[in-house]
Amino acid sequence: MSYNANDPRLTSWVEVPSDSDFSIQNIPFGICKMNDGFHVSSAIGNQVIILSALAENGYLKEVEGLDDSTLKNEFLNDFISLGKSVTSKVRETLSKLLSVGSSLEQDAATRKAAFVNMESVEMTMPVRVGDYTDFYSSRDHATNVGKMFRDPENALLPNWLHIPVGYHGRASSIVVSGTPLHRPMGQQMPAGADAPVYGACKLLDFELEMGFVVGKDTKLGDRISVHEAEDYIFGLVLFNDWSARDIQKWEYVPLGPFLGKNFGSSISPWIVTLEALEPFKTTSPAQDAPRPLPYLQFEGDKNYDIDLEVDIVPPSGESKTVCRSNFKFMYWNMCQQLAHHTVNGCDVNVGDICASGTISGPERGSFGSMLEISWRGTMPVDMPDGSVRKFIQDGDRVVMRGFGTKDGVRVGFGKVDTEILPVK
Ligand code: MN
Repeated sequence: MSYNANDPRLTSWVEVPSDSDFSIQNIPFGICKMNDGFHVSSAIGNQVIILSALAENGYLKEVEGLDDSTLKNEFLNDFISLGKSVTSKVRETLSKLLSVGSSLEQDAATRKAAFVNMESVEMTMPVRVGDYTDFYSSRDHATNVGKMFRDPENALLPNWLHIPVGYHGRASSIVVSGTPLHRPMGQQMPAGADAPVYGACKLLDFELEMGFVVGKDTKLGDRISVHEAEDYIFGLVLFNDWSARDIQKWEYVPLGPFLGKNFGSSISPWIVTLEALEPFKTTSPAQDAPRPLPYLQFEGDKNYDIDLEVDIVPPSGESKTVCRSNFKFMYWNMCQQLAHHTVNGCDVNVGDICASGTISGPERGSFGSMLEISWRGTMPVDMPDGSVRKFIQDGDRVVMRGFGTKDGVRVGFGKVDTEILPVK
């Protein structure tokens, strides 16, 4: 029988706090920056694992096809490009090395070289993102926005139930957790005014999303079928698609989002592999009225039961959880998104990110943006320090977390934590 790195019975000799996202069943991949440069790394408990240090001591020899030169690298792209047959084997080998009774447990010298406290290293952008696409795949989110800005009776536009709607975003301004962003300037049309004004965004918002990282290139003209799409997905990150609602509202007709979106998007540093998320697969919302076209029809469980939450941390430090949602609420799944994205022959490349779109659930407490939570600012949120929030203020941090729990095992993403600075 083949080794199962997801086995809930596996335990590690590394101490893993019960609320840690980085159990032995997770084994995510990221890039950390040390004094001697950038390293492909993994995580368990509060420890970052430097893969090159394991390789130098012979611990990754059994991984056929692993090119050690990919392990000292500013990005994961070269490592991911080795293919899932290699990266899955690395994850499996790490799982064995971290299990109770492994040879590594007894090798103090290698442990010293390969393990670093998570608090003492800087995690950097895990991939060089060539292209970034943002979808709009939560039915509750699209319905809420449609109710607010269009017709409550016909909240969904006629294409929405037939197409995973999306737009091409901006890759250059995707930043890793911990990178502060400035409030954007831009053009807005104030309510009742007859001419636009230029000024600081007044309606700065987050969007709770997850992003998948493409794990395999296609050639221009190729299509990825919905059935093979998982082979092309390396793993997932938390994704905060920052949005300037006032800039967005004025500019988006007729070509869609532009400067209201591309001033910044924030991602979590650890990519949790699709393999590690396998146990959290769950059913999707029914797609029978209408049924999608055949190229979007899929079989089996394609959604993932991942709890998501958003905290606002004001300068006072008294944080408030403003949203509890779940990735399973997505109407269009990642396989459908990728099949649709490439159905015209558009090529994708390793490191590309496709974000889900705001992940809202059915109730106000599960809405994934302040636009919805405060219902366009008509229902402000009370903060513990006595202040109120309709949107995000200067000095606020927005912290998103996500994790799955099953059979006593927690597999999570850590966090994406971003401070908003005043206009530059
Ligand atoms: Mn978005």
